[in-house]
Amino acid sequence: MQPKDLPAPSNRLTCPSCGNDKDFYEIAEDVTITTHYIQNLDGSFTPEEDTSQILGEIRLICGRCQEDMSSSYQHFSEMLF
Ligand SMILES: [Zn+2]
Repeated sequence: MQPKDLPAPSNRLTCPSCGNDKDFYEIAEDVTITTHYIQNLDGSFTPEEDTSQILGEIRLICGRCQEDMSSSYQHFSEMLF
């Protein structure tokens, strides 16, 4: 990969309050998590799959000063790989 393929520094998300550009939290409210279990012959359970459904808001929070950065959430979600 050539250096020019890396995101330009101006694309980096930075907290407007403290300048943090490293630690961020995504907080989802009202999440319903459904887990499908199989009961084994010995009575124990094995999780088969789980699905989560987010019913509430998703917020983006600065990991350093807890500033609400939800207005940048779209930028954040576009940069998730
Ligand atoms: Zn901050």
